[in-house]
Amino acid sequence: MYLREQPLEVFKRYIQEGINSNEAGGILLGHVRGEHLEIIEATEPSFWDRRCRFLFERMPYFHHKLAMKRWKESKGLVRYVGEWHTHPQNYPAPSSIDLTEWQILAADRRDARPLLALIVGCKGLHVEYMFSTGKRCILAPFDAPIEPV
Ligand SMILES: [Zn+2]
Repeated sequence: MYLREQPLEVFKRYIQEGINSNEAGGILLGHVRGEHLEIIEATEPSFWDRRCRFLFERMPYFHHKLAMKRWKESKGLVRYVGEWHTHPQNYPAPSSIDLTEWQILAADRRDARPLLALIVGCKGLHVEYMFSTGKRCILAPFDAPIEPV
């Protein structure tokens, strides 16, 4: 998996540091070429999303409207590939709620591909594929340069 500059910039902007920061998240848009996945864009929290320190409740309408727009603009090359959100942990681990939600989202995918699920921690990223069956495939520790800007 490869992350372009735009998603990295977005993740840096929302790293949860300090006691007053809230969870943030959005969807991931990318190119799929065989086994290779390139993340091109991460959507930012919208006005309608509820942001709390330990909870990010997504209002899917805005995010999915954007995914459809990019898909049309790129003639089907750029598509919805998964979800991202932040955790107030250095090296984040998914909660049981995250896992349940990811499995539901994976089952919803029309192209039957696994969902790419990404958590942005203060010092590292957690990245995994979630299949609709609940099978998980955690990608090796991902050393993205996400030090706060
Ligand atoms: Zn979470």
